[in-house]
Amino acid sequence: MATIITSECINCGACEPECPNTAIYEGGVEWELNGIMHPPISEDIFYIVPDKCSECVGFHDQEACAAVCPVDCCIPDPDNPETEAVLLARAQALHPDQTFPADFPSRFRKAGASAPEETTAAPTLTPPKPEE
Ligand code: SF4
Repeated sequence: MATIITSECINCGACEPECPNTAIYEGGVEWELNGIMHPPISEDIFYIVPDKCSECVGFHDQEACAAVCPVDCCIPDPDNPETEAVLLARAQALHPDQTFPADFPSRFRKAGASAPEETTAAPTLTPPKPEE
């Protein structure tokens, strides 16, 4: 799902420069893709262009806008679920000159994701034997 900015936005502007895809625009400002300008999606508050948001897949292990928002109003859009593969493809389309490694950063791979080979394995815990 693309990330959205809710009406809680206080127009601080902290998120805009953090987006690796320049998907965030100030309210009332036209957005651009491939040299073509489009009407603003919001007039009053900052907004995210869904077609430019990769949920930071390919760049960060969490959404950069959400990480800096002081009022936590950058949230996943519950009405627009998208897979990691779709989001990575979007990042690649937006950055055709960039190569993404196999272990690209992704919010889908943080907490709970399978550990990469180089990670030191946690010691194996052996359950205590029952008393005889
Ligand atoms: Fe940009 Fe990442 Fe926020 Fe999407 S989640 S708008 S790619 S900073």
